[in-house]
Amino acid sequence: MRLYPTRGAAQSGRQSVSFSEAVLNPAADFGGLYAPKTTPKLGDLSALKELSYRNLSKTILKLFEVDLDEKTIDEALSTYDRFDDPSNPAPLVCVSERLFVMELWRGPTRAFKDMALQPFGAILSSLAAKRGEKYLILAATSGDTGPATLETFANRADTEVVCIYPDGGTSETQKLQMISQEATNLKVIAIKGDFDDAQSALKTLLSSESFNEKIKASARKLSAANSVNFGRILFQIIYHIRGYLELLKRGEIKEGEAIDIIVPSGNFGNALGAYYARKMGVNIAKIIIASNDNNILTDLIATGRYDLTKRKLIATSSPAMDILKSSNVERILFDLFGEQRTRSLMEDLAQKGAFRLEAAELDLLQNVFEAAWSNEKEVFSAIAQNAQSGYMIDPHTATCLKAARLGESRVKVICSTAEWTKFAPTILNAIERKIYGDKEALLELSKRFDIAIYPSILNLFAKKPIAPKPIAPNEIEGEIISWLAKR
Ligand SMILES: *Cc1c(COP(=O)(O)O)cnc(C)c1O
Repeated sequence: MRLYPTRGAAQSGRQSVSFSEAVLNPAADFGGLYAPKTTPKLGDLSALKELSYRNLSKTILKLFEVDLDEKTIDEALSTYDRFDDPSNPAPLVCVSERLFVMELWRGPTRAFKDMALQPFGAILSSLAAKRGEKYLILAATSGDTGPATLETFANRADTEVVCIYPDGGTSETQKLQMISQEATNLKVIAIKGDFDDAQSALKTLLSSESFNEKIKASARKLSAANSVNFGRILFQIIYHIRGYLELLKRGEIKEGEAIDIIVPSGNFGNALGAYYARKMGVNIAKIIIASNDNNILTDLIATGRYDLTKRKLIATSSPAMDILKSSNVERILFDLFGEQRTRSLMEDLAQKGAFRLEAAELDLLQNVFEAAWSNEKEVFSAIAQNAQSGYMIDPHTATCLKAARLGESRVKVICSTAEWTKFAPTILNAIERKIYGDKEALLELSKRFDIAIYPSILNLFAKKPIAPKPIAPNEIEGEIISWLAKR
């Protein structure tokens, strides 16, 4: 497989890269990303529906012609052994007539990030070992990426992770997930500030000459585990294909019948996976983009205008979707309109804070996507309603319920992105308008609805890990360098 720079290549730049090159070095020329120009076709779907998740994944990786050897692919896919049901890591649950929920959070950290980061960790570590290189991986997190990145790289050879989180900016559960990690190749840093500060600190570090020199001098390479790495996207295509095959197999849909997929979106990685699955031949009529109050994607899909200028980030109960610069939208622009147009739209966004699609372009976008957003009141009422009927959903998944009533009466699949255990206080608050602490809320919900708490989440509250003392963003570099020196 070849991947191309979404804003074109500089004259001396890389015109295209292999899959593994894009994994190790995800930044493309002119600030762009890497994306495929064509996707392989799946062909006869009924031939695929009996395959196990692992064999289906292998078939898809082969179709993409990824430059990984058999052993690395096996290692990557064996990370799904850590999911509740290795043969079915993302089960489909029927919640009402013709409405299904795909539970993407059945991995070790109970958020959908595990679906891609678990195999990704195995791949990056194996590529590093093969090249005889050592990688320092930086991650900034608002809550789910941090725990999932630490978990996937814990004790992996030739990789070290530094994870930066905003002090007070994550839930107690998410913070405990990070600071209770004991592997010696992991380092967690709390900073004074919010997620934006953490993210810009990370960008500053990645581009800092002095930092890069020190890392080089320590014989390491620098990388980032953010959601724009194509190595993560690839694994987010597979479960969308599998979901459709599962519906076929269970007789919920007929051969050739079209479905809709509803995705609670932030950086658009999950939705992009559905887009590629559709291109590969899965009968997806519409991909419905669900948002919270930060509904910039709803506007884009309704009007063709992406406008940051009149917006400020709003903190909501679904923090993983509190995003205004949705990175993977760029890959859709590239796929629909090509590199030159993508570059000019992204330049507009950088210079004027907005871009606007032509009417014909908007038609192409609307051909694939619909959008709907939910305010906090709607999110809370969706959580409460579902809880009463015995199915617990987290606030991110809850943004999808309104979207599920959109459009034609096709079978719909909601992508559920976190387990209720990660957002227990919000859920209890939605049900009875009272504020609880994380542990209290977990135990109360478990008792009231007679549902088990995932053991490693419950165990977090038994350990008494010491949180790092928050530091200022300009102290991060020194902190990392002195940690590396001591290793
Ligand atoms: C990351 C995340 C999202 C957003 O996914 P994108 O691929 O960035 O659109 C939604 N919900 C949860 C719980 C997440 O962790």
